[in-house]
Amino acid sequence: MSIQSRRFFHCRSCGHKMRLGVDECGNCYQPTPMINHFPLPLLLALPVLAVAIVALVISTV
Ligand SMILES: [Zn+2]
Repeated sequence: MSIQSRRFFHCRSCGHKMRLGVDECGNCYQPTPMINHFPLPLLLALPVLAVAIVALVISTV
């Protein structure tokens, strides 16, 4: 099973489980939260990027 086939998000309107990267619910066609519009690699990269920036700031002070 690949990570992208796992369903992390639930629809706010109907509770349907959705994959990452979809912009509307497959069950009721309501728009999904903005965070779900980003592709998975970007979501995984964001915390890493944040830690890297903090480490950089701390090391320069
Ligand atoms: Zn729904």
